[in-house]
Amino acid sequence: MTHSLVKGIDQFIEIDTEEARLKYQSPLKVIEGPLMDAMKVVGELFGSGKMFLPQVVKSARVMKKAVAYLDPFMKNETSNVEAKAQGKILLATVKGDVHDIGKNIVGVVLACNGYKVIDMGVMVSFDKIFKKAKEEDVDIIGFSGLITPSLEEMIFNLQELQREGYRNPILIGGATTSKVHTAVKLDPHYDGAVLHVVDASLAAGVCTRLLSDDSNRFVKEIKKDSATIRESWLKSNAQIKIHSIEHARKRKYNTDWHKVDIAVPEKTGVFEINSTLEEIIEYIDWSPFFWAWELKGAYPRILENAKYGEEARKLFADAQEMLGRIVKEKLFKPRALIGIFEAKAKNESVSVFVDNSEVEKFEFQRQKSETVVNNETHYCLSDFIIPEDFVGRKDYLGFFVTTASGEVERIAKEFEQNGDDYNAILVKALGDRIAEALAEITHKKVRELFGFGRSENLSKEDIIKENYRGIRPAPGYPSCPVHEEKLKIWKLLDVEKRIGVKLTENFAMTPASSVSGYYFNHPKAKYFHVGTQ
Ligand code: SAH
Repeated sequence: MTHSLVKGIDQFIEIDTEEARLKYQSPLKVIEGPLMDAMKVVGELFGSGKMFLPQVVKSARVMKKAVAYLDPFMKNETSNVEAKAQGKILLATVKGDVHDIGKNIVGVVLACNGYKVIDMGVMVSFDKIFKKAKEEDVDIIGFSGLITPSLEEMIFNLQELQREGYRNPILIGGATTSKVHTAVKLDPHYDGAVLHVVDASLAAGVCTRLLSDDSNRFVKEIKKDSATIRESWLKSNAQIKIHSIEHARKRKYNTDWHKVDIAVPEKTGVFEINSTLEEIIEYIDWSPFFWAWELKGAYPRILENAKYGEEARKLFADAQEMLGRIVKEKLFKPRALIGIFEAKAKNESVSVFVDNSEVEKFEFQRQKSETVVNNETHYCLSDFIIPEDFVGRKDYLGFFVTTASGEVERIAKEFEQNGDDYNAILVKALGDRIAEALAEITHKKVRELFGFGRSENLSKEDIIKENYRGIRPAPGYPSCPVHEEKLKIWKLLDVEKRIGVKLTENFAMTPASSVSGYYFNHPKAKYFHVGTQ
């Protein structure tokens, strides 16, 4: 039986597993020999930019298939693959966070480079991480997280590790992490190395240096770099002027509430908005899909990119095929829940009403830091809602939660269990796209419900670029960075009961392929950064 090893990049490596098994007379020797050597080539080509992430993940899949093929022949052999591994690395998405595409990718890349990877999954508490790290005597721990509360969780984890006397290197990764944050907020809590890894292609190189004979020098270098970044950050931060809230309020964004066009909805209340998968996929913003695979660029131009256009096209074709199945077999069960309430603002808060009684009060933040203020206007989202002391007109605040459903994770898990990380990551990346596209089409339908959307006459491209009246800021993002406010939305819309989306202890939405936010319909509503508070 022919078992071609690295399909798709067979110009690099091709191994007939069965032939190799007979030649080496031992399936283990095939794994430890040509298979691991082949993966090393893959890892090196990726590290040097000659190969791209989708190819690496596909190669890893073939490696797993080849190992699975050899497995029945291995009855009496014990593996010393572990002993031969470059080192052991524990990876975990921290407590309260559910995002794991990036972490899974790093895991695949490290495995390709000969590391033994222990992936603990998502929402992993410090206790569990530490217990496993000791049990397995790992060389390096990697913390991953996407939402801002995870940054705090990482601080806690480092403090605990420090207290326990642990000093092995720690890798930091995930969308909200950065080199500056790592240097300023994380590094001071831990005497060992704390290293921000910006993308998967750098992970293996960093681990090699951390575990080399020369690692002490490398760790010292990292510590010194972090200290330099921290000092210059502290210096420039100390010079930033933070205005008082009174000063900022006097310079709020002003609206002539007598004249402004206030959109009035056909109805208020909490209800679902149905869209079919066929409808939803039309509104997919494809660029972030490629970013998830570390192919940087904007769709559709990325498909013609001189360097990785070919890989982008292959990936896109695979995505289309998978999406075709998802639509045809109705594999995802997308849901969109919205709420529209009468609303009144006071300073930075917005109260929402049912039959003239206040049912919830949302707290927003106002720009106070000199660095984020333009033209002397200190924005707050509450400025886009009618003030409570203005009589005679009614204004409205909307809310939404969309999800591609828990089916995304269920299907991804099936692929994972079959050793198919490529399709597992593909499904999750598509789940995120569907949740976002559903947020887009739902927003369109809500603008229609408010009247003004019926005459907007925009192309799909313009809609995906959000070139319409109104915004849908998401709690946890720069205009409204407080994640806790999601709890109020969940209560107000009864989200968990109605569409099955939950919040973790750190206010991450689970299933991970979910989106939530507010609708502000003010004609001049815009996104901004509230800055340091
Ligand atoms: N089309 C993109 C949409 C996500 S990014 C995709 O498919 O991934 C844009 C979204 O992020 C906005 O719709 C809004 O919900 C949120 N957002 C962007 N900037 C923001 C800000 N400054 N404050 C709050 N939310 C913001």
